[in-house]
Order: sequence, then structure tokens, then C-alpha cells
Amino acid sequence: MITEIQTDFYRITLPMPYRLRHVHVYALVQGSDVALFDTGMNMPGSYELLEADLKSIGLGTKSIRDIYITHSHTDHCSMAGLLQKRTTAKIHLSSIADNVYQYFHKADELIPVARLFYARHGMSPGEVDAMVEEIDDISSIIATFNADDYLEQNEIREFGNYKFEVIFTPGHAAGHVCFFFREEGMLMAGDHILPYIAPSLSPNIFDDIYQPLKSYLESLDVVEQLQITTIYPGHGNSFTGISERVAEIRTHHELRKQVILQSLNAQPKTTYSISAEVSGAGASRWDDWEKFMALNETYVYLQELEREGAIIEELNDKILGYTSI
Ligand SMILES: [Zn+2]
Repeated sequence: MITEIQTDFYRITLPMPYRLRHVHVYALVQGSDVALFDTGMNMPGSYELLEADLKSIGLGTKSIRDIYITHSHTDHCSMAGLLQKRTTAKIHLSSIADNVYQYFHKADELIPVARLFYARHGMSPGEVDAMVEEIDDISSIIATFNADDYLEQNEIREFGNYKFEVIFTPGHAAGHVCFFFREEGMLMAGDHILPYIAPSLSPNIFDDIYQPLKSYLESLDVVEQLQITTIYPGHGNSFTGISERVAEIRTHHELRKQVILQSLNAQPKTTYSISAEVSGAGASRWDDWEKFMALNETYVYLQELEREGAIIEELNDKILGYTSI
């Protein structure tokens, strides 16, 4: 589905299998040239949909000159490889996002680290196997691509008559960037700010120093300072009122962090058991993907609480346990 949201500026909605069921990519048109912001997910029929949508406005995927990627989650960029093969488009993303993407298709490195990480955080061997299968599924849709260049913090890029700034916004994903069109007041937000849900946070299992929540909150501060009129997110409708939305998301994280802190006592608990406990009855209906996401998010809060000195993490018999102070 293609929607003209402003003159020469289109939103194209493509499918994805996860809970939101759709992802938006944005196309900026200058004459017969297109700059695409994110690519959508490499799943059956997606490429054909993108082609048909661009055809409906007299263009096509061959018109794509540049591809700007907000972050390297598969729903946002896994079609980049296919587009690189079939077009002459140049691919631009941050160097960190490129690194993160590379991990996903090195299954021989990723899977042993993931097995160790999720077992340490309290998943049973059967659950770890199921989670590895999920990771394998994701790896299977990844088509590799080679970045043409890396985006730098605050640099200004041009496309036709448009100018936009690269704003580094790590948190939802390492290496996430937003694109800010200062003159038009538009923010191409990727998954940094979404209208209905708080963007998910996950640890980087290769990098224990990376603090997703701390980085994410700092990145909210950064975009709040910009003179933004309209936010164009990767999922959901465009919206206005950045300060209100930022305040809601901040409150959400503070409340979730407090709930996790309050679930702790002198008895060590694993990340996985805490994630189920704070989610109540709903946890018994989780599928493998939801278990994985819940554990990830819980660990992000535990990491932050530990950094603040509010809780203690201890390794006992290869399992990490958390206690309150
Ligand atoms: Zn994402």
C-alpha cells in the first residue's frame, strides 16, 4: 500500500510476520529518482509489492538511487541485499548498524554465544533449543549487502531539493539513526519513537558494556531538542507532539524498572523467572518468540538497576541470579 503523505514523499506499507504485522518504508521522489528510507523485510512477495507500489506512481525499484537504513533489524533492512542485486542503489547506514547486521548471518559465532547467554539467564535446555530455532529462522531471511558508505553523527545529506541530518539514536538497536529534515520539521524515526507502543529494548549479547536503556533514554533527550513537527515511524501512523510521546515512553520505562526492582528479594532469581513473574498469568501463553523478547527486556532493566547499584548480580553454578540490596 502506498500513500502520498506530502508532495513527492510517500509511505509504503509492507508485511512482516511479527506482532505488528506491517512495516513502513518511506520514498522521497525527485524527478525519476527515489531515495528509500528502510527497505522492509525480505519475505515472499515483499519485493513485488514494493515494485508494484512504485510502479503505481510511475516509478519502479530501478528508480531507487539511495537506500538509507535506520537500523539493522530484519524488518527494516533485510530487503537491502535483494535491492542491491537488482538495482544500482547505494546503501547508507551507520557502521555500528552494519556490524550488528553482520553478526546475524554468522550463525557459527552467534549461536554458541546465544546458547550460553540464554542458559545463563535461566532458560531450560529445551527453551534454549527453541530460541536457537527462532534465531535460525531470522538468519534464513537475511540477504547480505555491502554498505556503500557509513553515516556519521550530525552530518547533512542531500537528495534533490531535500536536506536531512543524521541523528544517532542508539537504544532500540545499537547503531540506530533517525533522519531529520530540519526545514520541513520531519523526523524519519525508524523504531526510535513509535506511536502506540514503547519500542522494544534488547541486550547486545556480544557487548556487555552496551547499556540499551541508558542509551535509549539519552537518545530520547536528543530528539526532544529538535524542532520536529511530524514523526514518521517504522510502524503505525505518523504523529505530532514529540514531547508528550517522549514523556509517556520515559514513564513507561521507569514504571517497568520499578516493577522489576520490587520483584527482587534476598533469594536469587534468574532473568527468565523474573520476566515471567512480572508478566503474571499471560506468561503461561507465551510462544518462543515472546519468551525471548520478555527475557531480553527484563535483562535490560536488570542491567540498568545493577549499574545504578540498586541490585546484585551473582554467578552461581553457571546461572546468573539477581537479589535486592
Ligand atoms: Zn527495530
